[in-house]
Amino acid sequence: MIDTHCHIDDPLYTVDLEACIKRQQDAGVEQILVPGVCLKDMPEVIRVCEQYPAYLHPAIGLHPENVGDNWEEELDALEAMLHQHNFIAIGEIGLDYHFDITYKEQQKLALIRQLQWAVDLDLPVMIHARDATADIIDILRQFPSLRGVMHCFSGSNETAKQYIQMGLYLGIGGVITFKNSKLREHLTDIPLDRLVLETDAPYMTPVPFRGQPNESRYMIYVMQTLADVYQLPVSAIESTTNANAKALFGLK
Ligand SMILES: [Zn+2]
Repeated sequence: MIDTHCHIDDPLYTVDLEACIKRQQDAGVEQILVPGVCLKDMPEVIRVCEQYPAYLHPAIGLHPENVGDNWEEELDALEAMLHQHNFIAIGEIGLDYHFDITYKEQQKLALIRQLQWAVDLDLPVMIHARDATADIIDILRQFPSLRGVMHCFSGSNETAKQYIQMGLYLGIGGVITFKNSKLREHLTDIPLDRLVLETDAPYMTPVPFRGQPNESRYMIYVMQTLADVYQLPVSAIESTTNANAKALFGLK
């Protein structure tokens, strides 16, 4: 299993990172990608990943919910960092209109600027989109050469197909195990070779651990649900999603 989206820089895990990493390794988690969400958190993301360089891979980005008054200065500083470390991706970046649309226009401009970094550096992107599907598709279409993943995908079958037509992957996590989720039905005719696994830990914990902090090892429950959806053995889900993650992010 490869976790393509895990906030393992969270103090919940760094309080005893060694034990945390061992739990994931013992459960068969091969590699973990760690997105950045803001300038302030980047040093910790980098520090944590440098402790396990073959296992944890940092990404860099300004999350749409962190786009505020000083977003341009923050992007200037993040851009300077781009050349100081090896990042596996630009992310997580995107649009989020769920709680607050005060900075809607700034979110779009910040997204466009970060997508251009990805194109210029030939890096994949991790896209966060919530209540913003039309605008996301509109902006992503302006970058036809883009590679990336729609993180925490939970949209409709039609939306899934639109993303796939754009060459993007869908990040599938705990949502697919939720009893009230329609995601299982929405994926039935979506090719497995467009899916990657993720947790978004500490959030989005799958059934049967909902309410507790998520961990990469719980992706087994996501794989089991996908095995039901695709009528395939769990081993086939694992090998295909591993290959997908490796191809997208250039992992060994
Ligand atoms: Zn996230």
